[in-house]
Amino acid sequence: MTSAVIIVADSLRHDALGCMGGEAQTPTVDRMASESTIFERTVSAAPWTVPSIASMMTGVYSHRLGLAKWEQPWPGEYRSLFASAAQAGLRVASFVFDTAHLFRRVSEAGVAGSSQDTDSLIRWLEEHRNEPFLLFIHYWWTHIPYVDKPMTMSAWKQTSDRVLEVLRSGDAARKGVQALYRRAVERFSEVWLPRVFDVLDMDSTWTVLTSDHGESWGERGETSKLADVFDLHGNTLYDEVLRVPLIIRPPGGSRSGRIPQLVRTVDLAPTMSDLMGLDEASRRPSLDGVSLADCIQKGAHPPELDAVSVMNRDFVDLPDLPASPDELWNAFALTTRRYKYIWRPQTDTRQLFDLDVDPGETQNIPAQELPDLESGWRRLTGELARAKVGEVMPKDVEKTRQRLRNLGYLE
Ligand SMILES: [Zn+2]
Repeated sequence: MTSAVIIVADSLRHDALGCMGGEAQTPTVDRMASESTIFERTVSAAPWTVPSIASMMTGVYSHRLGLAKWEQPWPGEYRSLFASAAQAGLRVASFVFDTAHLFRRVSEAGVAGSSQDTDSLIRWLEEHRNEPFLLFIHYWWTHIPYVDKPMTMSAWKQTSDRVLEVLRSGDAARKGVQALYRRAVERFSEVWLPRVFDVLDMDSTWTVLTSDHGESWGERGETSKLADVFDLHGNTLYDEVLRVPLIIRPPGGSRSGRIPQLVRTVDLAPTMSDLMGLDEASRRPSLDGVSLADCIQKGAHPPELDAVSVMNRDFVDLPDLPASPDELWNAFALTTRRYKYIWRPQTDTRQLFDLDVDPGETQNIPAQELPDLESGWRRLTGELARAKVGEVMPKDVEKTRQRLRNLGYLE
């Protein structure tokens, strides 16, 4: 068994880092990447944090888990990477952006503190770096408002609203916000990451750097319509939001190079389970993810994969979830080697993009023009039958109702 640290930098776009061709100056990440396997085309299972991270850590697509709220417990029938690591005797810990949100009902994640308290994270590493562990860090300060200081939820909301207001002022303001984002990515790489790498024993630890989703700034429509953070990620399934970096460095580091083929964040749990020598349960065929260990250790090509990503209606601040899956999951996407299919079940709206000639996904191809892609559409629409609505804790429902009543939203 080998230790691993999984660092998920929230909203980190696939093209933001220097080693991924981005403008940000990220020498610390680039150095790590030069001793790692870099998956150049990695697709996330969902466009926002909760469903994406749940899928990443279970190897199961988020619509099959039914997770779309912070306070939902994870369904017991799939063993997460956390549970597999704990069962193998590893110490399991997570540092999340706010302990009242991510993993609030996921005890197996072993929430040990907030990633916004870097000192306590460093202390944890100093104390435990010599024992086998799985450490999950959800780094928050690459998320809007792109500010690297600890914030309460209300300060965070206020500051984010100010950034959105700037974006609404027109296309010219976007450049300023993008510069703010770029500096946040640079601070992640050059201020925060070196502190972690300094105390981590990188000779005995797998180090993973990825993200839960990317980010957009209203490039596809009217900036005046940007109302909340879900309009930057969460409400679309285009590549700027679904593609993320995935860099995996073995203990001691070794250059395995770049993998251009399509892989998915849902592959992370089975891959890490394999690499860390954990049990078979996290590599079962009932999972959607597959192990990419052979790509990393033997330089093998990944199998030909397609990626399913799903979007949910925004129920984050509502007490209940809808009863039926088709009310919760309102858009599905299928990414293949060449094409991107997007389907909205409620209106049966379909979009198709040929990524070879149109990587920006701007030219929708009418379905009748490419009738031989029917099997792709069948594959995608079939996902609705596998979708479900997960459990919501009754106590949380009552608490949310009370909060909404206090705000005057509910009678
Ligand atoms: Zn996120």
